[in-house]
Amino acid sequence: MSQTIKYLLPEDRIPRHWYNIQADLPRPAPPVLHPGTLQPIGPADLAPLFPMALIMQEVSTEREIEIPEPVREIYRVWRPSPLIRARRLEQVLGTPAKIFYKYEGVSPAGSHKPNTAIAQAFYNKEEGIKRLSTETGAGQWGSSLAFAGALFGLDVTVFQVRVSYDQKPYRRALMETYGARCLPSPSPETAYGRSVLETHPDHPGSLGIAISEAVEIAATRDDTKYALGSVLNHVLLHQSIIGIEAMEQMEMAGTWPDVVIGCTGGGSNFAGLAFPFIGHGLRGGPKPRMLAVEPSACPSLTRGKYAYDFGDTGHLTPLTKMHTLGSTFTPPGFHAGGLRYHGMAPLVSHLAELGLIDAVAYEQSECFAAGVLFARAEGIIPAPEANHAVKAAVEEALRCKREGKAETILFNLSGHGHFDMQAYADYSAGKLLDLQYDEKELAMALSGLPSVPAPG
Ligand SMILES: *Cc1c(COP(=O)(O)O)cnc(C)c1O
Repeated sequence: MSQTIKYLLPEDRIPRHWYNIQADLPRPAPPVLHPGTLQPIGPADLAPLFPMALIMQEVSTEREIEIPEPVREIYRVWRPSPLIRARRLEQVLGTPAKIFYKYEGVSPAGSHKPNTAIAQAFYNKEEGIKRLSTETGAGQWGSSLAFAGALFGLDVTVFQVRVSYDQKPYRRALMETYGARCLPSPSPETAYGRSVLETHPDHPGSLGIAISEAVEIAATRDDTKYALGSVLNHVLLHQSIIGIEAMEQMEMAGTWPDVVIGCTGGGSNFAGLAFPFIGHGLRGGPKPRMLAVEPSACPSLTRGKYAYDFGDTGHLTPLTKMHTLGSTFTPPGFHAGGLRYHGMAPLVSHLAELGLIDAVAYEQSECFAAGVLFARAEGIIPAPEANHAVKAAVEEALRCKREGKAETILFNLSGHGHFDMQAYADYSAGKLLDLQYDEKELAMALSGLPSVPAPG
């Protein structure tokens, strides 16, 4: 019988700095552009939406950015998060590989997202902001920001993608328990929401639409700023705490990953685990293979174009260069709602272009099969999003078995699935379909990309 091996760090080992990969890039990422002038934007352009401290983090090239003590103090509720060796899963698979997972489901909201929600709420509070508006897909980000808002005394309004609002009433209850206001998006609350409802009264919603609504509220109110749960550089920065801890825990385990895996919606949990390892490699350390895992039904990295695009469907955001399916693309309503975003973090996209990371896509049913296998071996029920990482880890372990290699695999178990049991119930009942996106709609969304002349 195999034993559970869990690598725990003492509380005083919560990192004191976040890691900023922009300090170590061989080439800087392309600039963010103003959609009107097509010129690089400056900090003032973002000031209506974000507090200045976060804007400065967005453009910083400093390698280490200090974590404010009040943020570390709240991190202590659940951090450092455990690194666990999946011995029983290894045994079930009969693989010579060592499988480790960093478990972020121990946070109060059940995922990695409070790592940035707490930091964002802190900086907004510091700058005198009273209210935050945001979007949520599966409800994970909305509940994380609601949690952070409760701790810092900020009012939080969440636009929740309509399908997920209907599918996941308990996520909404969680947000409301923390004191947030939760609206289904598209909503009559904003001009953009009303314009969508006019032509599509039954619109299922999308992250791109919900972002437009949340941005509109922030842009039109002085006491309100916007908070984004993924994609942006400062979000990836805050999530680096995952990888910084994991590096120390891998040392405790006396090994180093050959492959590092994370699922990718906007890219933040993957980047959070992977970037500190990539930076270590860029500064002369070992270079593990980095694997981003996305859903086949919303494959921005594997099928998208690397191009300038809007972050939202209503075209209220600046233009960023990223892997995108087009800002008007509405992915089918599969269960990993946190992965239903048309774009990918600009930094993750840039690293893919530089050849520093690989990407792979899987269908939802094969991901749930891997998630159930994992739950029966390790006991933890992964979030549907995290099942994509589990699937890739299982595939890597089986490859090691075929090749007779005792590699070390590390993946991010980004959250638990306790609020997603309807998806598991559908899977058990054989009702979980592998949804395909509409090729025509994708082609149309891609043909609608804004045209931006090449620099120089
Ligand atoms: C939101 C979410 C994701 C996807 O977002 P990223 O920014 O790509 O990390 C993945 N897993 C869980 C559990 C989530 O809540």
